[in-house]
Amino acid sequence: MMTKSAKCPICGQPASPDYRSFCSRRCADVDLGRWFGGNYRIPGQPVAEGDGEKAEINDET
Ligand SMILES: [Zn+2]
Repeated sequence: MMTKSAKCPICGQPASPDYRSFCSRRCADVDLGRWFGGNYRIPGQPVAEGDGEKAEINDET
């Protein structure tokens, strides 16, 4: 049994098994971006995952 209480190193939320030690694809991308030079977004990466990336920016009502 896997009783690992892994937490997303990016946002601190419970990690999803689908994304290893991350909670979402987005956080995994963020971490990946850090490895590639501290850049948030990866050049050439299509932003069509529908992961609610823009929803966060629009959350200013
Ligand atoms: Zn996260």
